[in-house]
Amino acid sequence: MRRHLVWFRNDLRTTDHPALHGAAQGAHVTAVYLLTPVQWQQHGLSDFKIALILRSVDRLSEQLSQLGISLQICTAKDFVQAPEAILKCAQSLGADALFFNEEVAINESRRDQAVAQVMQHAGIRVETFSSQTSMPPGSVVKPDGSPYSVFTPFKKRWLADYRPDHIDPLPAPKPQGPQPSPSATPQRVGDMDKSIGEQLWKAGQTAAMTLLKSFIKTRIQSYQASRDFPAQRGTSVLSPHLAIGTISPRQCLHAAHAANGRRLVGASEGINTWVSELIWREFYSHILAAYPKLAMGHAFKTETDSLPWGTDQEALERWQRGETGLPLVDAGMRQLNTTGWMHNRLRMVTATFLAKQLFLDWRLGEAYFMRQLVDGELAANNGGWQWSASTGTDAVPYFRIFNPVRQAERFDPSGDFVRSMVPELADLPTRHIFEPWRHGGAAGYPSPMVDLSEARQKTLAIWKQGRLLAEDG
Ligand SMILES: Cc1cc2nc3c(=O)[nH]c(=O)nc-3n(C[C@H](O)[C@H](O)[C@H](O)COP(=O)(O)OP(=O)(O)OC[C@H]3O[C@@H](n4cnc5c(N)ncnc54)[C@H](O)[C@@H]3O)c2cc1C
Repeated sequence: MRRHLVWFRNDLRTTDHPALHGAAQGAHVTAVYLLTPVQWQQHGLSDFKIALILRSVDRLSEQLSQLGISLQICTAKDFVQAPEAILKCAQSLGADALFFNEEVAINESRRDQAVAQVMQHAGIRVETFSSQTSMPPGSVVKPDGSPYSVFTPFKKRWLADYRPDHIDPLPAPKPQGPQPSPSATPQRVGDMDKSIGEQLWKAGQTAAMTLLKSFIKTRIQSYQASRDFPAQRGTSVLSPHLAIGTISPRQCLHAAHAANGRRLVGASEGINTWVSELIWREFYSHILAAYPKLAMGHAFKTETDSLPWGTDQEALERWQRGETGLPLVDAGMRQLNTTGWMHNRLRMVTATFLAKQLFLDWRLGEAYFMRQLVDGELAANNGGWQWSASTGTDAVPYFRIFNPVRQAERFDPSGDFVRSMVPELADLPTRHIFEPWRHGGAAGYPSPMVDLSEARQKTLAIWKQGRLLAEDG
Protein backbone atom coordinates (compact mmCIF):
# COMPACT_ATOMS: atom_id res chain seq x y z
CA MET A 1 0.00 0.00 0.00
CA ARG A 2 1.19 3.55 -0.77
CA ARG A 3 2.47 5.62 2.17
CA HIS A 4 1.58 9.29 2.39
CA LEU A 5 2.95 11.88 4.80
CA VAL A 6 0.75 14.88 5.74
CA TRP A 7 2.55 17.96 7.06
CA PHE A 8 0.35 19.99 9.41
CA ARG A 9 1.12 23.69 9.83
CA ASN A 10 -1.48 26.39 10.47
CA ASP A 11 -4.29 23.93 9.77
CA LEU A 12 -4.48 22.01 13.07
CA ARG A 13 -7.65 20.03 12.39
CA THR A 14 -8.78 16.75 10.84
CA THR A 15 -12.04 18.00 9.26
CA ASP A 16 -12.09 20.18 6.16
CA HIS A 17 -8.40 19.52 5.69
CA PRO A 18 -7.82 19.14 1.93
CA ALA A 19 -4.28 17.77 2.27
CA LEU A 20 -5.32 15.11 4.80
CA HIS A 21 -8.40 14.27 2.75
CA GLY A 22 -6.34 13.94 -0.44
CA ALA A 23 -3.62 11.88 1.24
CA ALA A 24 -6.08 9.39 2.69
CA GLN A 25 -7.40 8.29 -0.71
CA GLY A 26 -6.19 4.69 -0.93
CA ALA A 27 -3.00 5.18 1.05
CA HIS A 28 -1.69 4.71 4.57
CA VAL A 29 -1.26 8.12 6.21
CA THR A 30 1.26 9.36 8.76
CA ALA A 31 1.34 12.97 9.92
CA VAL A 32 4.11 15.33 10.96
CA TYR A 33 4.22 18.65 12.81
CA LEU A 34 7.42 20.69 12.84
CA LEU A 35 8.18 22.90 15.85
CA THR A 36 10.25 25.89 14.69
CA PRO A 37 10.97 27.86 17.89
CA VAL A 38 13.63 30.19 16.49
CA GLN A 39 11.47 31.03 13.49
CA TRP A 40 8.54 31.79 15.79
CA GLN A 41 10.76 34.23 17.62
CA GLN A 42 11.95 35.81 14.38
CA HIS A 43 8.34 36.22 13.28
CA GLY A 44 7.57 37.81 16.65
CA LEU A 45 4.80 35.35 17.57
CA SER A 46 3.22 35.91 20.97
CA ASP A 47 3.52 33.47 23.87
CA PHE A 48 -0.28 33.27 23.91
CA LYS A 49 -0.28 32.11 20.29
CA ILE A 50 2.64 29.66 20.61
CA ALA A 51 1.06 28.10 23.70
CA LEU A 52 -2.28 27.75 21.89
CA ILE A 53 -0.50 26.12 18.94
CA LEU A 54 1.26 23.60 21.21
CA ARG A 55 -1.94 22.67 23.03
CA SER A 56 -3.80 22.42 19.73
CA VAL A 57 -1.13 20.11 18.27
CA ASP A 58 -1.72 17.87 21.31
CA ARG A 59 -5.47 17.85 20.61
CA LEU A 60 -4.76 17.19 16.91
CA SER A 61 -2.58 14.22 17.81
CA GLU A 62 -5.44 12.75 19.87
CA GLN A 63 -7.92 13.25 17.00
CA LEU A 64 -5.54 11.74 14.47
CA SER A 65 -4.90 8.80 16.76
CA GLN A 66 -8.66 8.04 16.72
CA LEU A 67 -8.35 7.83 12.94
CA GLY A 68 -5.43 5.39 13.25
CA ILE A 69 -2.96 8.09 12.17
CA SER A 70 0.26 8.68 14.06
CA LEU A 71 1.54 12.26 14.43
CA GLN A 72 5.31 12.71 14.63
CA ILE A 73 6.41 15.92 16.34
CA CYS A 74 9.83 17.03 15.08
CA THR A 75 11.88 20.15 15.72
CA ALA A 76 13.77 22.30 13.23
CA LYS A 77 15.26 25.50 14.55
CA ASP A 78 13.84 27.57 11.71
CA PHE A 79 12.44 27.38 8.18
CA VAL A 80 15.93 26.99 6.68
CA GLN A 81 16.21 23.64 8.44
CA ALA A 82 12.68 22.56 7.51
CA PRO A 83 13.53 20.79 4.20
CA GLU A 84 16.08 18.53 5.87
CA ALA A 85 13.78 17.71 8.80
CA ILE A 86 10.78 16.91 6.58
CA LEU A 87 12.89 14.85 4.19
CA LYS A 88 14.34 12.85 7.08
CA CYS A 89 10.86 12.17 8.41
CA ALA A 90 9.49 11.17 4.99
CA GLN A 91 12.43 8.84 4.30
CA SER A 92 12.28 7.18 7.71
CA LEU A 93 8.60 6.36 7.05
CA GLY A 94 9.22 5.22 3.50
CA ALA A 95 6.69 7.82 2.29
CA ASP A 96 6.18 8.09 -1.45
CA ALA A 97 4.34 11.43 -1.29
CA LEU A 98 4.13 14.54 0.90
CA PHE A 99 0.85 16.43 1.24
CA PHE A 100 0.32 19.90 2.70
CA ASN A 101 -1.93 22.98 2.52
CA GLU A 102 -0.27 26.12 1.19
CA GLU A 103 0.46 29.24 3.25
CA VAL A 104 0.50 32.69 1.63
CA ALA A 105 3.17 34.58 3.61
CA ILE A 106 6.50 34.96 1.86
CA ASN A 107 8.84 33.08 4.23
CA GLU A 108 6.37 30.24 4.45
CA SER A 109 6.01 29.94 0.69
CA ARG A 110 9.82 30.08 0.22
CA ARG A 111 10.16 27.32 2.83
CA ASP A 112 7.57 25.25 0.96
CA GLN A 113 9.37 25.68 -2.36
CA ALA A 114 12.62 24.52 -0.73
CA VAL A 115 10.86 21.51 0.81
CA ALA A 116 9.25 20.63 -2.55
CA GLN A 117 12.66 20.78 -4.22
CA VAL A 118 14.41 18.39 -1.83
CA MET A 119 11.46 16.02 -1.95
CA GLN A 120 11.41 15.90 -5.72
CA HIS A 121 15.16 15.37 -5.71
CA ALA A 122 14.65 12.39 -3.40
CA GLY A 123 11.89 10.99 -5.65
CA ILE A 124 9.08 11.87 -3.24
CA ARG A 125 6.00 13.38 -4.85
CA VAL A 126 4.57 16.62 -3.40
CA GLU A 127 0.87 17.52 -3.52
CA THR A 128 -0.32 20.90 -2.28
CA PHE A 129 -3.79 22.26 -1.55
CA SER A 130 -5.38 25.54 -0.55
CA SER A 131 -7.30 26.00 2.70
CA GLN A 132 -6.11 29.16 4.44
CA THR A 133 -8.85 31.07 2.63
CA SER A 134 -12.01 29.63 1.15
CA MET A 135 -11.20 31.08 -2.30
CA PRO A 136 -7.51 30.54 -3.10
CA PRO A 137 -5.34 33.66 -3.41
CA GLY A 138 -5.16 34.72 -7.04
CA SER A 139 -8.57 33.26 -7.87
CA VAL A 140 -10.64 36.43 -7.27
CA VAL A 141 -9.36 38.89 -9.85
CA LYS A 142 -10.54 41.69 -12.12
CA PRO A 143 -11.67 40.79 -15.65
CA ASP A 144 -8.14 41.68 -16.88
CA GLY A 145 -6.62 39.21 -14.41
CA SER A 146 -5.13 41.82 -12.06
CA PRO A 147 -5.76 41.72 -8.29
CA TYR A 148 -8.43 43.85 -6.64
CA SER A 149 -7.10 46.48 -4.28
CA VAL A 150 -10.48 47.82 -3.12
CA PHE A 151 -12.64 45.72 -0.84
CA THR A 152 -16.16 46.35 -2.22
CA PRO A 153 -15.48 45.18 -5.80
CA PHE A 154 -13.42 42.29 -4.38
CA LYS A 155 -16.36 41.26 -2.23
CA LYS A 156 -18.79 41.52 -5.17
CA ARG A 157 -16.55 39.32 -7.32
CA TRP A 158 -15.98 36.92 -4.41
CA LEU A 159 -19.74 36.54 -3.89
CA ALA A 160 -20.37 36.19 -7.64
CA ASP A 161 -17.70 33.48 -7.97
CA TYR A 162 -18.68 31.62 -4.81
CA ARG A 163 -20.27 28.22 -5.47
CA PRO A 164 -21.81 26.09 -2.71
CA ASP A 165 -19.12 23.43 -3.22
CA HIS A 166 -16.52 26.06 -2.30
CA ILE A 167 -17.89 26.10 1.20
CA ASP A 168 -18.87 22.47 1.69
CA PRO A 169 -16.38 21.31 4.32
CA LEU A 170 -14.58 18.01 3.75
CA PRO A 171 -15.15 15.22 6.27
CA ALA A 172 -12.31 13.72 8.30
CA PRO A 173 -10.93 10.58 6.67
CA LYS A 174 -12.22 7.15 7.74
CA PRO A 175 -10.17 5.39 10.46
CA GLN A 176 -7.33 3.49 8.83
CA GLY A 177 -6.47 0.98 11.55
CA PRO A 178 -5.49 0.52 15.18
CA GLN A 179 -5.08 3.66 17.26
CA PRO A 180 -1.46 4.68 17.94
CA SER A 181 -0.65 6.47 21.21
CA PRO A 182 -1.01 10.21 20.75
CA SER A 183 2.20 12.23 20.94
CA ALA A 184 2.63 15.44 22.95
CA THR A 185 4.47 18.69 22.37
CA PRO A 186 7.01 19.74 25.03
CA GLN A 187 5.61 21.51 28.10
CA ARG A 188 8.04 24.38 27.58
CA VAL A 189 9.56 25.99 24.50
CA GLY A 190 12.35 28.31 25.62
CA ASP A 191 10.95 30.38 28.48
CA MET A 192 7.37 29.79 27.44
CA ASP A 193 5.10 27.29 29.18
CA LYS A 194 2.27 25.88 27.08
CA SER A 195 -0.23 26.37 29.88
CA ILE A 196 -0.13 30.16 29.28
CA GLY A 197 -3.65 31.34 28.52
CA GLU A 198 -5.21 27.90 28.80
CA GLN A 199 -8.15 29.18 30.86
CA LEU A 200 -8.90 31.80 28.21
CA TRP A 201 -8.07 30.00 25.00
CA LYS A 202 -9.40 26.48 24.64
CA ALA A 203 -7.32 24.49 22.22
CA GLY A 204 -8.22 22.25 19.31
CA GLN A 205 -10.91 21.75 16.70
CA THR A 206 -13.62 20.54 19.09
CA ALA A 207 -13.34 23.74 21.14
CA ALA A 208 -13.42 25.79 17.92
CA MET A 209 -16.51 24.02 16.64
CA THR A 210 -18.28 24.45 19.99
CA LEU A 211 -17.53 28.19 19.85
CA LEU A 212 -18.81 28.44 16.27
CA LYS A 213 -22.04 26.57 17.08
CA SER A 214 -22.74 28.69 20.14
CA PHE A 215 -22.09 31.92 18.18
CA ILE A 216 -24.41 30.81 15.37
CA LYS A 217 -27.09 29.75 17.83
CA THR A 218 -27.06 32.70 20.18
CA ARG A 219 -25.27 35.76 18.77
CA ILE A 220 -24.92 35.87 14.99
CA GLN A 221 -28.38 37.39 14.40
CA SER A 222 -27.52 40.39 16.58
CA TYR A 223 -23.90 40.61 15.33
CA GLN A 224 -24.39 43.79 13.33
CA ALA A 225 -25.96 45.62 16.26
CA SER A 226 -23.58 44.44 18.98
CA ARG A 227 -20.21 43.88 17.29
CA ASP A 228 -18.88 47.37 18.00
CA PHE A 229 -19.40 47.36 21.76
CA PRO A 230 -16.41 45.89 23.61
CA ALA A 231 -18.33 45.47 26.86
CA GLN A 232 -20.68 43.03 25.10
CA ARG A 233 -19.71 39.62 23.81
CA GLY A 234 -21.06 40.50 20.38
CA THR A 235 -18.44 38.91 18.11
CA SER A 236 -17.47 35.27 17.58
CA VAL A 237 -13.94 35.42 19.09
CA LEU A 238 -13.04 32.73 16.56
CA SER A 239 -9.95 34.62 15.34
CA PRO A 240 -7.43 32.58 17.39
CA HIS A 241 -8.86 29.39 15.85
CA LEU A 242 -8.89 30.79 12.31
CA ALA A 243 -5.29 31.97 12.77
CA ILE A 244 -3.96 28.51 13.64
CA GLY A 245 -6.47 26.58 11.58
CA THR A 246 -8.32 24.67 14.30
CA ILE A 247 -11.29 25.80 12.22
CA SER A 248 -11.37 26.64 8.52
CA PRO A 249 -12.98 29.70 6.92
CA ARG A 250 -15.10 27.26 4.90
CA GLN A 251 -16.51 25.71 8.07
CA CYS A 252 -17.44 29.21 9.30
CA LEU A 253 -19.00 30.20 5.97
CA HIS A 254 -20.83 26.90 5.74
CA ALA A 255 -22.40 27.44 9.18
CA ALA A 256 -23.37 31.03 8.30
CA HIS A 257 -24.82 29.84 4.96
CA ALA A 258 -26.95 27.20 6.69
CA ALA A 259 -28.19 29.72 9.28
CA ASN A 260 -29.02 32.28 6.56
CA GLY A 261 -31.54 30.12 4.69
CA ARG A 262 -28.84 28.46 2.55
CA ARG A 263 -27.60 31.79 1.17
CA LEU A 264 -24.51 33.72 2.14
CA VAL A 265 -26.24 37.04 1.68
CA GLY A 266 -29.79 36.67 2.87
CA ALA A 267 -32.41 38.02 5.20
CA SER A 268 -30.27 38.36 8.31
CA GLU A 269 -28.24 41.58 8.53
CA GLY A 270 -26.27 40.01 11.38
CA ILE A 271 -25.19 37.06 9.24
CA ASN A 272 -24.55 39.21 6.16
CA THR A 273 -22.23 41.44 8.17
CA TRP A 274 -20.37 38.50 9.71
CA VAL A 275 -19.86 36.95 6.26
CA SER A 276 -18.51 40.30 5.13
CA GLU A 277 -15.90 40.23 7.92
CA LEU A 278 -14.81 36.75 6.82
CA ILE A 279 -14.45 38.15 3.30
CA TRP A 280 -12.24 40.98 4.71
CA ARG A 281 -9.98 38.21 6.02
CA GLU A 282 -9.89 36.67 2.54
CA PHE A 283 -9.25 40.09 0.99
CA TYR A 284 -6.17 40.77 3.12
CA SER A 285 -4.75 37.30 2.41
CA HIS A 286 -5.26 37.79 -1.32
CA ILE A 287 -3.63 41.24 -1.07
CA LEU A 288 -0.62 39.81 0.80
CA ALA A 289 -0.18 37.08 -1.81
CA ALA A 290 -0.38 39.62 -4.65
CA TYR A 291 1.91 42.21 -3.00
CA PRO A 292 4.72 40.40 -1.13
CA LYS A 293 6.32 43.80 -0.32
CA LEU A 294 3.71 44.09 2.46
CA ALA A 295 5.47 41.29 4.33
CA MET A 296 8.75 43.19 4.07
CA GLY A 297 7.77 46.30 6.00
CA HIS A 298 6.61 48.39 3.04
CA ALA A 299 3.43 50.41 2.88
CA PHE A 300 0.92 49.56 0.18
CA LYS A 301 0.93 53.26 -0.73
CA THR A 302 4.69 53.54 -1.29
CA GLU A 303 4.70 57.34 -1.08
CA THR A 304 3.67 57.15 2.60
CA ASP A 305 6.98 55.42 3.43
CA SER A 306 8.65 58.82 3.16
CA LEU A 307 6.44 60.51 5.78
CA PRO A 308 8.51 61.41 8.88
CA TRP A 309 7.12 58.61 11.10
CA GLY A 310 8.33 58.93 14.70
CA THR A 311 10.15 56.35 16.79
CA ASP A 312 10.01 57.92 20.29
CA GLN A 313 10.66 54.92 22.55
CA GLU A 314 9.14 56.45 25.66
CA ALA A 315 5.90 57.31 23.88
CA LEU A 316 5.80 53.84 22.33
CA GLU A 317 6.21 52.20 25.73
CA ARG A 318 3.45 54.29 27.30
CA TRP A 319 1.14 53.20 24.50
CA GLN A 320 2.25 49.57 24.89
CA ARG A 321 1.64 49.58 28.65
CA GLY A 322 -1.78 51.23 28.30
CA GLU A 323 -0.71 54.40 30.14
CA THR A 324 -1.50 57.05 27.56
CA GLY A 325 -4.03 58.81 29.80
CA LEU A 326 -6.76 58.22 27.20
CA PRO A 327 -9.07 55.73 28.90
CA LEU A 328 -10.39 53.80 25.87
CA VAL A 329 -6.90 53.47 24.36
CA ASP A 330 -5.53 52.22 27.67
CA ALA A 331 -8.43 49.81 28.15
CA GLY A 332 -7.75 48.30 24.70
CA MET A 333 -4.01 47.97 25.29
CA ARG A 334 -4.53 46.39 28.67
CA GLN A 335 -7.04 43.93 27.20
CA LEU A 336 -4.36 42.98 24.66
CA ASN A 337 -1.59 42.67 27.27
CA THR A 338 -3.60 40.56 29.70
CA THR A 339 -5.56 38.32 27.33
CA GLY A 340 -3.72 38.30 23.98
CA TRP A 341 -6.87 39.49 22.21
CA MET A 342 -8.39 42.90 21.58
CA HIS A 343 -11.85 43.85 20.38
CA ASN A 344 -11.86 45.05 16.74
CA ARG A 345 -13.20 48.52 17.58
CA LEU A 346 -10.33 48.98 20.04
CA ARG A 347 -7.76 47.67 17.57
CA MET A 348 -8.87 50.50 15.27
CA VAL A 349 -8.84 53.10 18.06
CA THR A 350 -5.45 52.08 19.54
CA ALA A 351 -3.81 51.71 16.12
CA THR A 352 -5.13 55.10 15.00
CA PHE A 353 -3.89 56.65 18.23
CA LEU A 354 -0.37 55.33 17.64
CA ALA A 355 -0.20 56.22 13.95
CA LYS A 356 -2.13 59.49 13.97
CA GLN A 357 -2.28 61.11 17.41
CA LEU A 358 1.28 60.02 18.35
CA PHE A 359 2.47 59.89 14.74
CA LEU A 360 4.70 56.91 15.54
CA ASP A 361 5.71 54.48 12.81
CA TRP A 362 2.74 52.14 12.31
CA ARG A 363 5.22 49.25 11.84
CA LEU A 364 6.18 49.57 15.53
CA GLY A 365 2.54 49.09 16.47
CA GLU A 366 2.10 46.24 14.01
CA ALA A 367 5.09 44.39 15.48
CA TYR A 368 3.88 44.97 19.06
CA PHE A 369 0.41 43.62 18.23
CA MET A 370 2.01 40.53 16.68
CA ARG A 371 4.09 39.94 19.83
CA GLN A 372 0.95 40.04 21.99
CA LEU A 373 -1.91 38.69 19.87
CA VAL A 374 -3.18 35.16 20.28
CA ASP A 375 -4.75 35.55 16.81
CA GLY A 376 -1.78 37.32 15.16
CA GLU A 377 -2.02 36.78 11.40
CA LEU A 378 0.39 38.64 9.15
CA ALA A 379 -2.21 39.44 6.47
CA ALA A 380 -4.98 40.67 8.80
CA ASN A 381 -2.62 42.47 11.18
CA ASN A 382 -0.76 44.25 8.41
CA GLY A 383 -4.07 45.01 6.68
CA GLY A 384 -5.59 46.40 9.90
CA TRP A 385 -2.54 48.52 10.67
CA GLN A 386 -2.22 49.92 7.18
CA TRP A 387 -5.95 50.62 7.14
CA SER A 388 -5.69 52.55 10.41
CA ALA A 389 -2.52 54.43 9.40
CA SER A 390 -4.00 55.34 5.98
CA THR A 391 -1.00 53.75 4.24
CA GLY A 392 -2.82 50.68 2.99
CA THR A 393 -5.08 49.53 0.25
CA ASP A 394 -8.65 50.80 0.63
CA ALA A 395 -7.59 52.43 3.90
CA VAL A 396 -9.37 55.06 5.93
CA PRO A 397 -8.55 58.54 4.47
CA TYR A 398 -5.63 60.27 6.23
CA PHE A 399 -7.86 63.04 7.55
CA ARG A 400 -10.22 60.63 9.30
CA ILE A 401 -8.81 60.43 12.80
CA PHE A 402 -10.81 58.57 15.44
CA ASN A 403 -11.13 60.66 18.58
CA PRO A 404 -10.74 58.18 21.47
CA VAL A 405 -13.03 60.22 23.74
CA ARG A 406 -15.87 60.33 21.18
CA GLN A 407 -15.29 56.64 20.39
CA ALA A 408 -15.60 55.80 24.08
CA GLU A 409 -18.82 57.78 24.44
CA ARG A 410 -20.26 55.99 21.44
CA PHE A 411 -19.08 52.43 21.94
CA ASP A 412 -18.68 52.13 25.70
CA PRO A 413 -21.50 54.49 26.75
CA SER A 414 -21.76 53.18 30.31
CA GLY A 415 -17.97 53.11 30.75
CA ASP A 416 -18.19 49.46 31.82
CA PHE A 417 -15.45 48.27 29.50
CA VAL A 418 -13.04 51.00 30.61
CA ARG A 419 -13.82 50.21 34.26
CA SER A 420 -13.17 46.49 33.70
CA MET A 421 -9.69 47.12 32.25
CA VAL A 422 -8.50 50.28 34.01
CA PRO A 423 -9.01 49.80 37.76
CA GLU A 424 -7.69 53.32 38.51
CA LEU A 425 -10.89 54.64 36.88
CA ALA A 426 -13.29 52.07 38.32
CA ASP A 427 -14.89 54.46 40.82
CA LEU A 428 -15.41 57.39 38.45
CA PRO A 429 -18.96 58.25 37.40
CA THR A 430 -19.73 57.71 33.73
CA ARG A 431 -19.81 61.44 32.97
CA HIS A 432 -16.17 61.77 34.09
CA ILE A 433 -14.67 58.49 33.03
CA PHE A 434 -13.63 59.28 29.44
CA GLU A 435 -11.93 62.61 30.22
CA PRO A 436 -10.77 62.26 33.84
CA TRP A 437 -8.28 65.12 33.45
CA ARG A 438 -11.16 67.60 33.06
CA HIS A 439 -12.60 66.51 36.42
CA GLY A 440 -9.60 66.52 38.72
CA GLY A 441 -8.06 63.26 37.45
CA ALA A 442 -7.96 59.88 39.18
CA ALA A 443 -5.37 58.59 41.64
CA GLY A 444 -2.61 56.63 39.91
CA TYR A 445 -3.88 57.41 36.43
CA PRO A 446 -1.72 59.57 34.11
CA SER A 447 -2.73 62.79 32.36
CA PRO A 448 -3.16 62.46 28.58
CA MET A 449 0.19 62.25 26.81
CA VAL A 450 -1.08 64.46 23.96
CA ASP A 451 -3.62 67.18 23.46
CA LEU A 452 -6.00 65.52 20.99
CA SER A 453 -6.80 68.64 19.04
CA GLU A 454 -3.14 69.74 18.70
CA ALA A 455 -2.11 66.22 17.71
CA ARG A 456 -4.77 66.16 15.04
CA GLN A 457 -3.65 69.48 13.54
CA LYS A 458 -0.01 68.37 13.58
CA THR A 459 -0.76 65.09 11.82
CA LEU A 460 -2.95 66.72 9.19
CA ALA A 461 -0.16 69.24 8.48
CA ILE A 462 2.44 66.46 8.08
CA TRP A 463 0.20 64.53 5.71
CA LYS A 464 -0.61 67.61 3.64
CA GLN A 465 3.06 68.48 3.38
CA GLY A 466 3.90 64.85 2.47
CA ARG A 467 1.24 64.78 -0.22
CA LEU A 468 2.50 68.03 -1.73
CA LEU A 469 6.05 66.64 -1.80
CA ALA A 470 4.81 63.41 -3.40
CA GLU A 471 2.93 65.41 -6.06
CA ASP A 472 6.01 67.58 -6.70
CA GLY A 473 8.22 64.50 -6.97
C1 LIG B 1 -4.87 47.17 13.75
C2 LIG B 1 -5.61 45.87 13.54
C3 LIG B 1 -4.91 44.67 13.66
C4 LIG B 1 -5.57 43.45 13.45
N1 LIG B 1 -4.87 42.26 13.57
C5 LIG B 1 -5.49 41.08 13.34
C6 LIG B 1 -4.78 39.87 13.43
O1 LIG B 1 -3.57 39.82 13.65
N2 LIG B 1 -5.48 38.70 13.25
C7 LIG B 1 -6.81 38.71 12.97
O2 LIG B 1 -7.39 37.62 12.82
N3 LIG B 1 -7.49 39.84 12.84
C8 LIG B 1 -6.89 41.03 13.03
N4 LIG B 1 -7.60 42.20 12.93
C9 LIG B 1 -9.00 42.15 12.49
C10 LIG B 1 -10.05 42.03 13.62
O3 LIG B 1 -9.82 42.99 14.61
C11 LIG B 1 -10.09 40.65 14.26
O4 LIG B 1 -10.17 39.66 13.27
C12 LIG B 1 -11.32 40.50 15.16
O5 LIG B 1 -11.29 41.45 16.19
C13 LIG B 1 -11.34 39.11 15.75
O6 LIG B 1 -12.42 38.96 16.60
P1 LIG B 1 -13.58 37.92 16.27
O7 LIG B 1 -13.01 36.59 15.98
O8 LIG B 1 -14.56 38.00 17.39
O9 LIG B 1 -14.17 38.51 14.94
P2 LIG B 1 -15.62 38.45 14.29
O10 LIG B 1 -16.14 39.83 14.31
O11 LIG B 1 -16.44 37.38 14.84
O12 LIG B 1 -15.27 38.13 12.75
C14 LIG B 1 -15.12 36.78 12.28
C15 LIG B 1 -13.75 36.58 11.68
O13 LIG B 1 -13.59 37.41 10.54
C16 LIG B 1 -12.24 37.83 10.44
N5 LIG B 1 -12.20 39.28 10.54
C17 LIG B 1 -13.04 40.08 11.22
N6 LIG B 1 -12.72 41.38 11.03
C18 LIG B 1 -11.65 41.39 10.23
C19 LIG B 1 -10.85 42.42 9.67
N7 LIG B 1 -11.10 43.72 9.89
N8 LIG B 1 -9.81 42.08 8.91
C20 LIG B 1 -9.53 40.78 8.65
N9 LIG B 1 -10.25 39.76 9.15
C21 LIG B 1 -11.30 40.05 9.92
C22 LIG B 1 -11.49 37.20 11.61
O14 LIG B 1 -10.89 36.01 11.17
C23 LIG B 1 -12.61 36.93 12.60
O15 LIG B 1 -12.33 35.89 13.50
C24 LIG B 1 -6.95 43.44 13.12
C25 LIG B 1 -7.63 44.66 13.00
C26 LIG B 1 -6.97 45.86 13.21
C27 LIG B 1 -7.73 47.14 13.08
